[in-house]
Amino acid sequence: MFNSIKWRFTIIYFILIFIALITAGIFIVQAFEEYHLDSIEKKMDDLSSEILPKIENLEDFNTNSIQNIIDSYKRLGFEEDLYIINTDDVVVATSTENVNERGSNLFDLKLLISAKSGKEETMITDIRTMDKSVPIYLNDKFRGILFVRYNLDAMYITLSKTTLIIVRVIVIVTGITIIICFLIAKTISEPIEDISKKILLMSDGNFSNRVEVKSTDEIGDLAMTFNLLTDKLQYNINEVFKEKNKMETIIEYMNDGLIAIDLNKNIIHVNSKARCLLGMDSKLNDVKYINKKLDVDAIISSNELIGIKNIEINETILKIDYLPFKDEEDTEIGLVFVITDITESEKLDRMRKEFVANVSHELKTPLTSIKSYSETLINDDYDNEITKKFLTVINTEADRMTRLVRDLLQLSNFDASFSNRKTEFNDWVILIDTILLKLKPIYLMKNQEVNFNVHLEDTIGEFDYDKMEQVIINVLSNAIKYTQEKGVINIELSDDDRVFLIEVHDNGIGIPEEDLKHIFNRFYRVDKARSRKRGGTGLGLAIAKEIMDMHNGEFIIESIFNEGTKAILKVPKRINL
Ligand code: ADP
Repeated sequence: MFNSIKWRFTIIYFILIFIALITAGIFIVQAFEEYHLDSIEKKMDDLSSEILPKIENLEDFNTNSIQNIIDSYKRLGFEEDLYIINTDDVVVATSTENVNERGSNLFDLKLLISAKSGKEETMITDIRTMDKSVPIYLNDKFRGILFVRYNLDAMYITLSKTTLIIVRVIVIVTGITIIICFLIAKTISEPIEDISKKILLMSDGNFSNRVEVKSTDEIGDLAMTFNLLTDKLQYNINEVFKEKNKMETIIEYMNDGLIAIDLNKNIIHVNSKARCLLGMDSKLNDVKYINKKLDVDAIISSNELIGIKNIEINETILKIDYLPFKDEEDTEIGLVFVITDITESEKLDRMRKEFVANVSHELKTPLTSIKSYSETLINDDYDNEITKKFLTVINTEADRMTRLVRDLLQLSNFDASFSNRKTEFNDWVILIDTILLKLKPIYLMKNQEVNFNVHLEDTIGEFDYDKMEQVIINVLSNAIKYTQEKGVINIELSDDDRVFLIEVHDNGIGIPEEDLKHIFNRFYRVDKARSRKRGGTGLGLAIAKEIMDMHNGEFIIESIFNEGTKAILKVPKRINL
């Protein structure tokens, strides 16, 4: 409590005023005492000089006549005691009871000696009296000593009363002083205490407090300056917050993941995209997890703080760009990682490479046969039959290449212009019947049974006739191709509110489960050798799928290996829906 400015001011003021009052009190008491003693001394001087001539003039220095003179002074209110002692040191006359007493018993020796040597002397004694000795002469002959004694008790009593009054005054004045000092100190310290309280609140981030400006003096100025400072600080901090929030929002909603860590591997920031890309569970120990996934230790210890690397997490390929950030002294203090999901572009890149490799491979096989058969024919003479056989092979391989190139061209056309379809109203039954007519020689050759069942009345749909013909021919010829002799193929045409449904069901060789998910990939064939032997390019289903997508339709293949396959085509009734 006494640590506060208020109390310190009060105590200092109190001490100063107390010292001043005590000093003044002491001076007053001393002056008072001096004044009284002086006036007593003067009174004694007057008395002695009044009595002395009367005694000196006595012819007869006997007791009675002296006593008479002394008695004449013993009147009411007379405070002094008078003593006359003779040359034998005996009190011969006195205003007291002490007649015949020895002078040396009553008075200090110093007074006696001084008087005997002819000098007047005054002194204050231990018994609180002021004694004065005056020598008595007659015609230069020493006859005795006149002593005047004044009792100082009354004066000292008055003095102590005065002292008491002064002490009381000091106590009351210091009491009042303490109160006044406290009030004055409070007016000074209160605004300062208020400001320091508000500064404390400010350090806790509370900027809404202002101090009251109560005066126009320096303290008022201080309060005003404080309020001004708070306003400015609040404004600046609000600006910084706004900026920070803006940055955080930008970082949070960035399309890329962002992680900032310091060089001690403490995480400064991780946005939600980074969490999502790295598959981070918020319950996990982030530091360890990030360190493990991004190999932060290796980057920091390599001292090569700028770089790019790719990592793979759960089939997602991530590109990690990292670079250091610096403090105001240009010292590297941390690392920022920008994480981009490049799975799609990597996949596309991989597909492109695979496609080129597949095309080259598909073209190389027939070209090799054509080359070797034609070289054989050029170099050697063969009979007609062998020549014809070789030329047939060359022709078949040339046909395969033509098919391949045609299919590729068609695919690249789809890629180039997606909405490349001419939709008109066509009858599904007419389309399928026409296709069956075209394929009849083929399935008859394999002694297969093909049934076409229609389960709806309105069979008019809106589709691109040529393209849809291509899809159904592909599906049906696959069914014929991959079904053994005497197999059964059923075609069902039905609908619901939304779509026409064409299902082609065969009881052929089927497709193993693991191949089903790749079945629409370009050049994908379950059994490459067998498919090629049957003239397949591996592009048929890919093309069919593209055409179905063009119609906003669905193409599903369900199959059980060694039991059969079901191709399901769903074409929307309203094509633009
Ligand atoms: P292909 O020209 O080789 O027939 P597709 O793209 O039409 O190429 O078919 C891809 C692969 O799917 C075929 O090689 C074949 O292995 C398999 N396949 C397609 N339809 C059937 C089916 N009905 N039964 C069994 N396998 C099929």
